[in-house]
Amino acid sequence: MFHNINKMLLLGILVIAVFMGGVNLLSAAGEKHLIVIDPAHGGKDTGVKIKDKVYEKDITLAIALALQKELVKEGNIQVILTRDSDIELSPEERKKILEKIKPGFFLSLHINSGFGKKASGFELYYPGFKGDMEAKKKDKDSASQARNKHLNEAVRMAHFIQRNLDTLFPRKGRGIREADLPIMDGLLIPALVVEMSFASNTEDKKKLLSPKAQVEIAKALSKGIKSFFR
Ligand SMILES: [Zn+2]
Repeated sequence: MFHNINKMLLLGILVIAVFMGGVNLLSAAGEKHLIVIDPAHGGKDTGVKIKDKVYEKDITLAIALALQKELVKEGNIQVILTRDSDIELSPEERKKILEKIKPGFFLSLHINSGFGKKASGFELYYPGFKGDMEAKKKDKDSASQARNKHLNEAVRMAHFIQRNLDTLFPRKGRGIREADLPIMDGLLIPALVVEMSFASNTEDKKKLLSPKAQVEIAKALSKGIKSFFR
């Protein structure tokens, strides 16, 4: 779930500082597509419970690490993770990472829950710019053009990812929707939230807990991202 508010942790800032150092060096080379992948939640912010002692934060991290492994095989894609261990990051800290790195894309990984036990499959959310309507009216210039461009890119990425997740969760795609993603406010970066199936559904839960299925989900996401950058 991506509506929870995270808390601050100093360790997170240290990790970000380390990331920044590496990124500046690498982006100076300038040839790779840069994507920030966000294993949502972390630390005391557990996200939804999957089973005893296993939480959303653990599964999003496992899949993000597997996804990073898949993507770097491509050679022209550089992956930055917002976290690569069980640390807590506030939305502000995540936003700072994005502001500093300005990646070509931001992908946040979550796990869904609720809507009854029958709800299953995956959902994709791209940030809407409803809050920016005033700004939209004022400028018909470069800023709103940039917003539209990033919106289109998010939707394009969503379609590629949907196509590949469809093979893992046949007929279980719950659609591509617009949502409020506060951390994206004011950032001109194409972004997408993937809710990778439901912890509250027995079949989905089995998949989420299986290391083999976690890698399959990562591979499906990776195929979508590779198609996007091609
Ligand atoms: Zn979540």
